[in-house]
Amino acid sequence: MMPYFSEHFGNPASTHQWGQITDHVVMSSRQGIAKILGGAPNEVVFTSCGTESNNLALRGTVFAERARRGANHILTTAVEHPAVLRTAIALAKHHDFELEMLPVDPFGRVAPKDLAHALRPSTAIVSVIYGNNEIGTINPISDLSAICRDRGVPFHTDAVQAVGQAPINVLELGIDLMSISGHKFYAPKGIGALYIREGIDPVPLQTGGSHENGLRAGTLNVPSIVGLLDALKLAAGSYEAHVKKMTSLRDRLIHLVLEHIPESRLTGHPTQRLPNHASFTFKGIESNQLIAALDLAGFACSSGSACKTGDPEPSQVLTALGYDSEESSGSLRITLGRTSTPDSIDDFIETLPDLIAKLRAVEAISP
Ligand SMILES: *Cc1c(COP(=O)(O)O)cnc(C)c1O
Repeated sequence: MMPYFSEHFGNPASTHQWGQITDHVVMSSRQGIAKILGGAPNEVVFTSCGTESNNLALRGTVFAERARRGANHILTTAVEHPAVLRTAIALAKHHDFELEMLPVDPFGRVAPKDLAHALRPSTAIVSVIYGNNEIGTINPISDLSAICRDRGVPFHTDAVQAVGQAPINVLELGIDLMSISGHKFYAPKGIGALYIREGIDPVPLQTGGSHENGLRAGTLNVPSIVGLLDALKLAAGSYEAHVKKMTSLRDRLIHLVLEHIPESRLTGHPTQRLPNHASFTFKGIESNQLIAALDLAGFACSSGSACKTGDPEPSQVLTALGYDSEESSGSLRITLGRTSTPDSIDDFIETLPDLIAKLRAVEAISP
C-alpha cells in the first residue's frame, strides 16, 4: 500500500500519466478480487465499508426493482447485522416497502422451505446473513440462493464475517449481491466491496461522477484497495489451514467454557458456525462488566455487535431467538484470529471462570 500514499498519488479518474498509474493498480486489484470471489471485474464495486455495501445492496436493489416491476416486498431475518436490519426497517418506514422477517430456528438459521413459502412475485430482494456476527451461525446460502434464482428474485448476503472463514465463491453459492468488509480480514478499516452480478442493476445511492460504473460516485481510496486485494489473497491462500486451525481452537474453547463455567450456554449452532467464533450466555452477569474485566486481564472480547457497544438494550439477535432479557444480558462473544494459539485459549480459560464467579457474587449482593 505504501507507494500509493506518496510516490503514486495520482487520481485514478484523471487521464494524465500519474492518474494512469493508479488507474492501472485499481484495475488489477479489481481483477484480483473478482477472481477470488468468482465474479467478473465489472461486478465488483468498491465501497467504504461493509455497512455501505449492505446499504447499496438493499436500497439500490429495492428502488431499482420497484421502478422496473413494481416490487415492494423485502424479505430478511431478525438476526441480521444492524447495517441490514436497520436499513430494511428504514426502507419500510420511510419508503413504503413492506418488510417481512423470515423465520429462523433457535440457532438463527433460515430453512429453505420457509423462504420458498414466503417469496412473492412482488419480492424486491431477499437478504440473509451468511455468517452471523453475534452467534456465529452459518446459513445454508446456496440452498437459499437457488430458490431465489428460480423465482427471479435478487438474493443478497452479508458475507462480512464469512471471508476467510467459509467458501465465498459467488458462482458456486449462486449469489446476486454479496457484501464484504476489509477490516474483518486484516485489510485496513474504511474499505469494503459489493459484488453485484451482471444483470442486477441497483440505483446508485451516492451520485456524482461516473466512478464504479456510475454505481458509487467519489474518488477511490487507492491504497486501501491495494490492501484489500492483498488481504483477500492472504485469506484465500491460507483458507484451508486457517479453517482447520480455528475450528480446533474454537471447539476446545467451547468445550472448556461449558465444562468449567456453571450455567453457561453456547449461543448459535454447535457445528454450522464460523470456525473462529464462539459465543455464550452466562446467567447472572452483565456482559459489559465482564467485557471490562476481560479487557483489564488482556482479552479483547465483545457481546453483541461492536456497533452496539455501550448500548444497554439486550441483543436483538438473542431476543429474536427467544432468549429472555436476563439470559441475553450476560452474553459474550469471542472471536479467534491469526495470532490465537492453544496457549491463549488456556490463558483465557484460566481467567474467565474466576471473573464470572466474582461478578456473580457482586450481582447476588447488589439490589
Ligand atoms: C462488521 C460487520 C458489518 C459492518 O461492516 P463495517 O465495515 O464495520 O461497516 C456488517 N455485517 C456484519 C455481519 C459484520 O460483522
